[in-house]
Amino acid sequence: MTRHIIATTEMPSFVESLRKNNVIAVSDGSGKDRIGSAAAVLHCTHTGQRIKATTMVQGNIQDQSSHRSELVGILMIVKIASMLHTEFDLTGTLITFGLDNDEARKTVIDEYHPSVKKPDYDIICDIQKRFASLPIKFNSRWIEGHQDKTNTDYDTMDIWTLLNIEMDIDAGVHRETHKHDNTNNIPLPNERTTVWLDNKKLAHFDKHELYSAVHGRAYSHPTDKRSWSCLQFWQIRETLSDQALTNIHWHVLGKAFRKYPNGKQRWLVKHETGQCGVERMHLRRKYRDHSQCPRCGQTDETTQHIIQCQATLATTEWNIHITLLSNWLTKYRTNTFLLTAILQRLQEWRNSSPKKGISSPR
Ligand SMILES: [Zn+2]
Repeated sequence: MTRHIIATTEMPSFVESLRKNNVIAVSDGSGKDRIGSAAAVLHCTHTGQRIKATTMVQGNIQDQSSHRSELVGILMIVKIASMLHTEFDLTGTLITFGLDNDEARKTVIDEYHPSVKKPDYDIICDIQKRFASLPIKFNSRWIEGHQDKTNTDYDTMDIWTLLNIEMDIDAGVHRETHKHDNTNNIPLPNERTTVWLDNKKLAHFDKHELYSAVHGRAYSHPTDKRSWSCLQFWQIRETLSDQALTNIHWHVLGKAFRKYPNGKQRWLVKHETGQCGVERMHLRRKYRDHSQCPRCGQTDETTQHIIQCQATLATTEWNIHITLLSNWLTKYRTNTFLLTAILQRLQEWRNSSPKKGISSPR
């Protein structure tokens, strides 16, 4: 027997059943073809009174999964409980919820906060924070799903199984009706930080997606810098030739970079991009009224100038480091011609002097 609550006058008796712990909750999600929907019910086992809800699952297409749909089912249960609590005060009430996806169930009841990299981080966090803030106790149980696929004798099934089958059907019906609805991801109330990419809110901190968005965009507009890849941007800014780009051993540089401590990595990125406290930036940020190098007095001190500065102090520092580099190259038995060539080119670059021929055995 089921009776949907349609009249507000029935609410007090439903809430009374909740307080007597006679109400159970069941949800189910469906995530076919990357379009997700979910259904949930709070059902009184004594009177058959119930509150039911169905919804589409908000999320970017790459985030849609049955796992996400199942989580949204749980979220609906918690939201309904929360709304009822605001209205009627359910302090001390116990609600047991059941679903057929044990991974989703275990994830939300985990005492630990999920990693920001975990898929569906946004919804998991929202549910966990709602659990923690409500004075209602939530228990959970796993329900063996899709039992009606092998056995259609409903008399042999318990209430949990029957409600799970009903929610499965409801989620499917809702999906069919609303499959063309807009399901863009939305910020959730308990999210402290959200990461957006191309006007889409990410469901978790997707490092690979962010990385490829920065370094390998498949499209670009010649005048819109925001659509350029990172490489394209730097090639234009530093007027690098295509050949120069292919000659850079990115993999080895990346490996060396990651060996630096975090602080030094941050410093190096700022230095290489010119965005640190050199006089050019000080002037631009209005910390100074000039941009002169404090050592040689040249205007427009950049990070590159720091290395190329011809002041005595800077030259001494340069020579010390060149000697260290030379010793290191010798220690690792670098070919003498290669060693000489590296040091010669570095010196020519520092002094902005013309490149001379490289002596080689050939
Ligand atoms: Zn200088």
